[in-house]
Amino acid sequence: MSQPVIARPTFKGNPFSLGVASGSPLPDSVVLWTRLAPDPLHGGGLVPQPVAVKWEIARDEGFHKIVQAGKAIASPHYAHSVHVEANGLQPACSYYYRFFAGDAVSPIGQTQTAPSADSLDPVRFSFASCQMYEQGYFTAQRHMAQEDLDLVIFLGDYIYEHSWGKNDVRKHEGHEVYTLDEYRNRYACYKQDPDLQLCHARFPWIVTWDDHEVDNDYAKDRAEDLETNFLARRAAAYRAFYEHMPLRDACAPHNADMRIYQAYDFGRMTRFHVLDDRQYRDYEVSPKPGRAGSNYIKDCPERNDPHRTILGWEQENWLKDSLKNSSATWDIIAQQTLMAQVVHRGGTFWTDGWDGYPAARRRLLEATQDKPSSNSIVIGGDVHAYAVCDLKLDFDDPQAPVVATEICGTSISSQGPPKKETLGLAEQNPHIHYVNGDARGYVRVELSKGKAEVALRAIESEKVPDSPVRTIAQYVVEADRPGAHSV
Ligand code: FE
Ligand code: CA
Repeated sequence: MSQPVIARPTFKGNPFSLGVASGSPLPDSVVLWTRLAPDPLHGGGLVPQPVAVKWEIARDEGFHKIVQAGKAIASPHYAHSVHVEANGLQPACSYYYRFFAGDAVSPIGQTQTAPSADSLDPVRFSFASCQMYEQGYFTAQRHMAQEDLDLVIFLGDYIYEHSWGKNDVRKHEGHEVYTLDEYRNRYACYKQDPDLQLCHARFPWIVTWDDHEVDNDYAKDRAEDLETNFLARRAAAYRAFYEHMPLRDACAPHNADMRIYQAYDFGRMTRFHVLDDRQYRDYEVSPKPGRAGSNYIKDCPERNDPHRTILGWEQENWLKDSLKNSSATWDIIAQQTLMAQVVHRGGTFWTDGWDGYPAARRRLLEATQDKPSSNSIVIGGDVHAYAVCDLKLDFDDPQAPVVATEICGTSISSQGPPKKETLGLAEQNPHIHYVNGDARGYVRVELSKGKAEVALRAIESEKVPDSPVRTIAQYVVEADRPGAHSV
């Protein structure tokens, strides 16, 4: 028997403590998100019964021109989160939205639909990743909220499942998270941050995940420390991710499985191919003794095994088709980590990134050559450093043509690599034009018919609230000429 819905709830605290968000934009539809959590760090603070939530979406901030309104159910099954799919909207149109529960009213969010299928208007977006809560403030999110954008893309490490690093400015709500309740409390800890709420409330987001939404360096069904019953943990983590992101119902998890890879069209200007390189990947080669996960290794035959996949074969074929069928001027491949080959000191490769899966990288880059436009830009995160690179089918051949451009963004707040790790990398790897692990921030991109303009936006310090932001480097990618040029 289904539980009765609480139509007129009363709350002991603010039920909208985690703010509002929107995302997964289409030309006629956007997802509106909130979660009722009057006691956010202790399971949310509601009885396990469904709660009625009203929503409104309007053309104006004063809600005089409401275009749609409706009722949604905040179900305890999904931690009293709400994922409203507001349909029948106009393309490339700005909207305001809010929620009501009992006497409480949510903050107002602003969102935007994708442009119509034939649009050739410029597309402006920012992308970001890696927001370790303990290591810094989310000041970069606040600055991102003030940019003039059509959308934000988040590439993973939205939460961190455990504490690490040094010079913390604040603390997680608890220890390493394993259970559904613990993952929910961890998301609540992050989502209470006012700067993060501001950026969610300002733009629609497209999201994917990396490893820390579950466990550091996990691969498919295997944890870094080889813990047993890892798929139960993955199921809890994926469910909590779904509960806290503006994702469509179609993305809802089935136990430990959840499909988040997806393409989004922004007219004929851009197709965003959003990937998941965690859920389906083969295990990392040559881990440290007694463990799984990443390592720095010398080249070996296993690494180059053509049967190895990082996306899984199904997603790889899907991407191939998604690229081939694209009529966009710019194909943006939005994925987790650095794609370009990096030969580290001592001639080693890092096995958790694409360097652990070179045959899969080559197949992906070959697929970018089998589509109408020659403009592919790979965006990534994970390494907590900016990197601007030429992507080639053969990185070891200096004469090999550049087939795509890579822009990797630094972290929002997670600490960067030690200086000695990035020093000399660009010299040792001539296809890497720029690398900087010292600054935190995000990347802004403007795509137009003739060029892509890229600004690396860095905050002065993630340890100091209210730090200013500035552009530390700017690049242009000209249409039909892969590779970024400094301006
Ligand atoms: Fe990270
Ligand atoms: Ca990561």
